[in-house]
Amino acid sequence: MNDWTKIIKVTTVKDKESGAINTPIHLSSTFQQDDFDHFGEFDYARSGNPTRKVGENAVAQLENGQYGYLFSTGMAAISSVLETFSQGDHLIVSKFVYGGTFRILTEVLNRFGISHTFVDLRDLKQVEAAIQTNTKAIYIETPSNPVMNVTDIPAMVKIAKAHHLITIADNTFMSPVLQKPLDLGVDIVVHSATKFLSGHSDIIAGAAITNNPELADKIYFIQNAVGATLGVTDTWLLLRGIKTLGIRMAQSSTAALKIAKWLQQQPEVTRVCYPGLESDPGYRIQMRQARNGGAVLSFDVGSEDNARILAENVQIPEFSVSLGGVESILSYPPKMSHAELSPAEQADCGITPGLLRFSVGIEDPDDLITDLKQAFEKMTPAK
Ligand SMILES: *Cc1c(COP(=O)(O)O)cnc(C)c1O
Repeated sequence: MNDWTKIIKVTTVKDKESGAINTPIHLSSTFQQDDFDHFGEFDYARSGNPTRKVGENAVAQLENGQYGYLFSTGMAAISSVLETFSQGDHLIVSKFVYGGTFRILTEVLNRFGISHTFVDLRDLKQVEAAIQTNTKAIYIETPSNPVMNVTDIPAMVKIAKAHHLITIADNTFMSPVLQKPLDLGVDIVVHSATKFLSGHSDIIAGAAITNNPELADKIYFIQNAVGATLGVTDTWLLLRGIKTLGIRMAQSSTAALKIAKWLQQQPEVTRVCYPGLESDPGYRIQMRQARNGGAVLSFDVGSEDNARILAENVQIPEFSVSLGGVESILSYPPKMSHAELSPAEQADCGITPGLLRFSVGIEDPDDLITDLKQAFEKMTPAK
């Protein structure tokens, strides 16, 4: 079944009792047991709830996975997956990993004896060299935030399998309609469902998906034990948001490519980071493993002053953190998502003072370009 059809089928799960075509919001923490000896599928809502079950099944199916779990935030999903590891375990993690994941690894999990090595996963030799006797997993995030470095997923899977490691991939930036890591051999996919999956900048949510029953049991155990589950109202909103995922990703990624090409022509722009551009170093790998370059790009306008002029003068995009909504979002990584990094660390990750990130929404791309153009006209050229 084509993804667009599947999206609608998996999110439109009718209520058996009433025939309502949309899953009801089951606001119940406890479920009556009819039999003294044999309990039903649901007993207490932290352990399971009919609304959440429909949402979990939907995200699992979209990733071609068998087991899906929904969490209260993307970070809850990621940290719950990482909590399946134990004291003494070591993880190899992308050097360009999301800031919250970096924080959990460096300030929480390290205190519990789970260690890590950050590696630029584009360098396969470095990945091999980082493997220790206690290494258990490789943690991938591709394309990376905000400079859109591409990691070769099948190459990571190959290295991992050769050393009996599992692979985990944060698929937030692509969404399952543009990239399906499980199909490429990855063991666990995680999402900030706050972004493209929900798509409307209205909820915070996370997901973890796998095909491996043993890993599924471990994730479920942590989900139930720690309890960072997604509430039913937010699950319902997530299901509603996912219904348009296919058309949103198509519109936004087509627009992102058009905008990226336009940005390349602008004299003020010193660099455009978008793996959908043929000139991008990640282009070939991206096209092998994903449908297109996605809906997020970043570009450098040469200086902080120019970045400020652009941010202050655009009329259509929201100037804010986050991404993946129907509305275009312009953000300034040096002061927003990556503000915690020192200037040297920022430079090491390609985060220059003139760098802006653009999450392209579903507006008309020509309107977005016209808007960028009028804002660019207020700058002083850098080259
Ligand atoms: C936003 C984000 C997260 C964290 O998700 P929250 O829903 O904010 O907790 C993790 N990974 C990536 C790539 C993200 O963009």
